[in-house]
Amino acid sequence: MLLNSETSVQPTKNVTNWGMHGADLAVGLLQGDIDKDNFNRSYLITGPEAVGKRTLATRFAQAIFSPNGEQNDSYSIYDAIEKEEFGDVAWVRIGGACGGNRADGTCHVHPKRFIGVCQIRWMVRKMNTKSFNANHKVFVVDSINDLSLGEEQSFSALLKQLEEPPPHTTILLLSANPDNLNLTIRSRCQLVQIPAMSRDLLRDAILKSNLTENIQSATKYAAIAKGRYGRAYTQLTDPAYEITLNSILEDVESLARAGSQDRMNYSERLAKAWRNEPEVVLETLNIWKAWWREALQITTDVVPIELSIFHHQANSQLTSGIALQALAALEEAENNLQTNVNARLALDMMMIDIPQVSNTH
Ligand SMILES: [Zn+2]
Repeated sequence: MLLNSETSVQPTKNVTNWGMHGADLAVGLLQGDIDKDNFNRSYLITGPEAVGKRTLATRFAQAIFSPNGEQNDSYSIYDAIEKEEFGDVAWVRIGGACGGNRADGTCHVHPKRFIGVCQIRWMVRKMNTKSFNANHKVFVVDSINDLSLGEEQSFSALLKQLEEPPPHTTILLLSANPDNLNLTIRSRCQLVQIPAMSRDLLRDAILKSNLTENIQSATKYAAIAKGRYGRAYTQLTDPAYEITLNSILEDVESLARAGSQDRMNYSERLAKAWRNEPEVVLETLNIWKAWWREALQITTDVVPIELSIFHHQANSQLTSGIALQALAALEEAENNLQTNVNARLALDMMMIDIPQVSNTH
């Protein structure tokens, strides 16, 4: 019998995929460079939000500094990297340290909404000091898109390092939106992509990594996570999330039948949330889309009602035309929000454009 490496090795100990799901090509490329001891100076790690870019960066550093994986010593480099406490792996992100003398390691001009030039200068200083373990240093910019909102000086300081980094230094730039990046930056880096997985592969990955044993639940989370293992992981390991999800699904269902007053109240609530937590609103719309996508699959007989995840009974009033209109409305709202159309207006329009499904069965 052939031994299947995927079932014979615990996912977290699997050296060939670094315990990641759906990132085999990315892991293969980076592990190959480590094996050859021939690193690119910089890598641009791309993939949709919450697909696992941070995890990949962390595993890459662990593979360099702790090639035997997790070990049970009192001090484990592997754990220190995981906790971002290892001196030769530095993370640069919004609000992160810049070596300033305030209690949190920042300075008095430290920006709150983007990565500051003070942070890039701090990174450059660290690059040019001797490393703790004397063989390698890794810097992770999370994300590089947060720099583009910042000062021009940050760019030139970073570009200079991408052109001529000190020896034994690797820079990882993370980006969910590489298309918006400066071309010069992109051309300096080796591209490493983590694609979204298909729904079936994500469901299998969820089951394989024991995030749940329930196939129905794995299918549900695979449907709303849009192929992103990191998102499914966060949701399935958060004990409160199931309640949030169910309440959103109840909203979708009742609002499909509701009149304009209820719908306007809902869009007002979402628009308020947009101000402080835009990513929560986008995730909510994602769940709306999953519900309506399944409505389309049911009405076009792609999915029989007995196998549906979000719809419990057939509704003859719900047609494929209605589902298509609703999906188009959701898509447009998402685009409008991301291109900074007034949020209340975008969400009101969405609620108006989603057809009302009548109550009779
Ligand atoms: Zn600062």
